[in-house]
This record gives sequence, C-alpha cells and structure tokens, in this order.
Amino acid sequence: MSREQARQALERARRVAVATHITPDADAISSLIGLTQILRRLGKEAEPFCDDELPPRLRAIPHAEEISRVAHGSFDLLVSLDASDPARLGRAFAEVGEAPLLNIDHHITNTGFGTVNWVDPSAVATAEMVLWLADDLGVPLDRELASILLAGILGDTMGLRTPNVTPQVLREVIRLMEAGASLPTLVDVLFNRRSFAAIRLFGQALAGVRLEDGVIWTVVTREMRQTLGLGQANDLSLSSFLISAEEARIAAVFTERDDGKVEVSMRARPGYDVARVALAFGGGGHPPAAGCLVPGPLEEVIPPILSALKAAARDGRTDPSG
Ligand code: 5GP
Ligand code: MN
Ligand code: MN
Repeated sequence: MSREQARQALERARRVAVATHITPDADAISSLIGLTQILRRLGKEAEPFCDDELPPRLRAIPHAEEISRVAHGSFDLLVSLDASDPARLGRAFAEVGEAPLLNIDHHITNTGFGTVNWVDPSAVATAEMVLWLADDLGVPLDRELASILLAGILGDTMGLRTPNVTPQVLREVIRLMEAGASLPTLVDVLFNRRSFAAIRLFGQALAGVRLEDGVIWTVVTREMRQTLGLGQANDLSLSSFLISAEEARIAAVFTERDDGKVEVSMRARPGYDVARVALAFGGGGHPPAAGCLVPGPLEEVIPPILSALKAAARDGRTDPSG
C-alpha cells in the first residue's frame, strides 16, 4: 500500500504529466481528467495524455477535449493511471525526459513498473483511488469533479452491478451525488448510447456466436466494421452481454483492428478467472473482466486463446478468495 507515498509524490511535484491506457474506457478517462483537475486545483501544472482515440460517449466527460496523445517536454513527475503494464500507455510517455513514474492502478495483474507503485485491487475503479487522493490532498469535491469521478466508478462497476460493490462504494457514490454528480445522466451517457451502426454490428457478431465447453465467443472482423462505417474506438460491451448466457462460464470477443492486431475482450462468471488467461497472452485485467492485444491474424490467434479459455472454464479458480 503506497497511498501515502503517492500523496507525497503528488504534493511535491510542480509539473506533472498524467497518462492512461490505450483503448480507453470510462475509468481511464475519468481517473485521467479527475487527477489532472485535482492537481490544477492545487496550483500545479498538469497535462492529461491518452495515446488513442476516445469512443464518442467518453467525449461527453468534462475536459475530455484537453487530452493530448503524446507528452513532450520535461516534467518532474509522470503518473500512470488504470494501466497494468507500460505497453498499455502506448507512446504517451515515449518522448518525455527522465522523471519518476507514479503508477496508480487497481488491476491485480499490474506489473509494478513505476518508481512508486500504488496498486489496490480492492478498489472498484482507479477513479475511486483518485477520489481517495482528493480527500488525502484536501481538495474538496464540486459538481464537476464529482461527475468526472462518478463516471469511472460507474464504468468499471457496470452501473454499480458488479460483485465488488460494497456499502463503502455506495457511500462514496452518495457523496459524489451530494456534491452534484447526476447518477441518471451518467448512466444514460455511459450505458444507453449506441449508434445504429453499432447495433447492427452487434447483430452481425451475435449471428456468428458459438458455445463450446462453457465458452461463449464470437468475432468482429475489420470488414464487418468497415462495411458499417465503424472505427475501432467503438467498445460494444459485447462480451458483457455474452456472459449473461446461462450455459456459459466464460465469454470472449475477438475484434480485428485496422492494423490487423486482434483485441480480445474476456469475461468470467464468479469463480472463474480470465485475468490469468489474459496475462498469459501479454494482457491483463481483473478475474471477471480482462483483455489482451495480440498480433493477428484472427485464424491464428483464436485457437490457442480459445483452448486456454476452455481450460479456465473447466477448472474454475483454485483460489476461492479472489
Ligand atoms: P474490456 O474487455 O472491457 O475491454 O476490458 C476488461 C478489462 O481488461 C479492463 O480492466 C481492461 O483494463 C483490461 N484489458 C483489456 N484489454 C487489455 C490489454 O490489452 N492489456 C491489458 N493489460 N489489460 C487489458
Ligand atoms: Mn480501464
Ligand atoms: Mn479500471
């Protein structure tokens, strides 16, 4: 636990570059903008970076337009948020000079790549850890900061529906709402907005769905996306839908990117662990939700990953505590 070290490093820093992971989700953007705002409120220079496109729904988070892709110049502190390994930052920090790196994350698979590491898998979201930091640093919540942070907590808990949501998390949500964040507005923005093209892609992917040995899976090809005019920054949450199949213990969606690489999104029912499978293929995540990015082509990457997923669906998890 380096929460105190994280607070000290941030308190000492004057000029901070903050970055989050590629293929950003709500928690990535929420924690990124949230920490940037907190540091600015303390009178520091802070710049947010994410080396990827933002999905349209995340552009609605206040200050999202201030995010740049690659940091240039010199900073006295670099902060990585919600990224379990340095490759997840893309090139965000590839062009900055030497500076200590503070790694703040909640993934159990975090490799501890920072100078200071504060990794807490008990946190439901990195945005929750940023909320704790706001308290530790004495930055009061206002409506904007509360909305930014609630977006991340909602994103990673699927709207407060995951098994790790405790009374403490709900008390934090109440605080954020009392500070002015709108739960219904954020739920609407984060979960109830898809383009017609995305719905059609969903339909095409579902048409090809398969169930084998407890693993439900499907594929989104580059051609399917391009025919429908969809870029790759369109997280469909299809894997979260697939795991609702009664007969499935594990779900996976293989999405072919424009560069030919394949993104694998995995989900597991309680008692099963996809983080271990993702880690084995160079990715990471949480036992119930994980992913990896592997070189293509599809037909070569699917068989080994599928057989690892089938093994995970057979064995369940040996450690019942996680
Ligand atoms: P999703 O399936 O929603 O894209 O991702 C689920 C979880 O897996 C998230 O916690 C995300 O951070 C993690 N994840 C997804 N893709 C990757 C990846 O390529 N590398 C790593 N390290 N984690 C990933
Ligand atoms: Mn994330
Ligand atoms: Mn997260």
